[in-house]
Amino acid sequence: MQILDPSAEAVSANSKPSLSGLDRQSLAARLSDIGVPEKQIRMRVNQIWGWLYTHGSRHFDDMTNVSKDVRASLAEAYSLDRLEIAESQFSDDGTRKWLFRLADGQLVETVYIPEADRGTLCISSQVGCTLTCRFCHTGTQKLVRNLEVAEIVGQLVSARDELQDWPTGTSQSNTGNRRITNIVMMGMGEPLYNVDNVASALNVMSDGDGLGVSKRRITLSTSGVVPAIPAMGGATGVMLAISLHAVHDELRDELVPLNKKYPIDELLEACRQWPGLSNAKRITFEYVMLKGVNDSDADARALVKLLAGIPAKINLIPFNPWPGAPYECSSWERIEAFADIVNRAGYASPVRRPRGRDIMAACGQLKSASVKQSAAERKKAELASRNLTRPA
Ligand code: SAH
Ligand code: SF4
Repeated sequence: MQILDPSAEAVSANSKPSLSGLDRQSLAARLSDIGVPEKQIRMRVNQIWGWLYTHGSRHFDDMTNVSKDVRASLAEAYSLDRLEIAESQFSDDGTRKWLFRLADGQLVETVYIPEADRGTLCISSQVGCTLTCRFCHTGTQKLVRNLEVAEIVGQLVSARDELQDWPTGTSQSNTGNRRITNIVMMGMGEPLYNVDNVASALNVMSDGDGLGVSKRRITLSTSGVVPAIPAMGGATGVMLAISLHAVHDELRDELVPLNKKYPIDELLEACRQWPGLSNAKRITFEYVMLKGVNDSDADARALVKLLAGIPAKINLIPFNPWPGAPYECSSWERIEAFADIVNRAGYASPVRRPRGRDIMAACGQLKSASVKQSAAERKKAELASRNLTRPA
């Protein structure tokens, strides 16, 4: 593990409001604010959009198709500042984690996971989380607020900067050859408690004239905010993942307390309403493997039965430990036996290989905020993660 730029006091030199991360509507409003004539706004938004999101421009001077006068007015009033990086960490397995400091001082985390055939960016939707899933570190974080659109999009923009992942030379498009090919809304927070901002941000990220991430490669994960599910599908067209984790209400009430409000049958009914649901657009059901809690053969059989009739993928997630967690990860033998039952029922059930555990970047380990890990806690988590790393 290597920590770069840990300077907690670094402050942005430029305090002008940034245009980076805005959606089209907000960008139009900012142009209007500096007197760009109404009839020019659409054209100017389109021009600036390309610079912001196809090229990742950092200077208004780059925007050569925007008139000099307008560029000067933009530079006078605004900046193209990115989210401030408070800390940047590399895992031994190539995973990267950034801790971003937001304008109000709150901290939020983003993780990049490179794999042979893809690069996935795991984005946060809130600072902390109001829900209190018992196996999740983020859920123990007290301080919570929704992220703004620009703070959500900004995580992708900054990651593209950091990974030098903008098109270069004659390439005018983000659609081919990017290091970040996939987005998962699986960082800190419950995206369906921040519906409007998450929907706008996803639409910015998937915009073909800009950041250009295919909707088929964007997955939103929810713990089951039932009333918000179908509408989010309609507003974004992205893929859905459900944090299921238990096959009976009694256990799910304990693991995912939101289940008391929206029990499993209501959750599955909302899933059936997901627009475009088909074998080509399956819902992913996430299932965290907790030793002796939800990992028996009977659980696996009940899972298969429960999902019958829903075009589904099942994603088994080995529990990622964090200091003070009340659970342990199932053994590899148990996970494999569970996966076998699910596979035999016809489901692809990839086991999610833990990534970035040494930097606490794996699922459910994210926790920024005031409560930073002590060195001793970090050491303990590292040791725990070594003991649980899958044999090669
Ligand atoms: N709030 C949303 C998205 C963020 S959590 C949700 O709950 O779906 C992303 C995924 O990580 C969820 O499936 C969550 O259940 C899982 N997760 C949380 N804590 C975990 C842990 N300690 N180990 C493994 N997976 C965990
Ligand atoms: Fe929140 Fe998701 Fe963690 Fe549950 S698993 S506490 S919903 S971030």
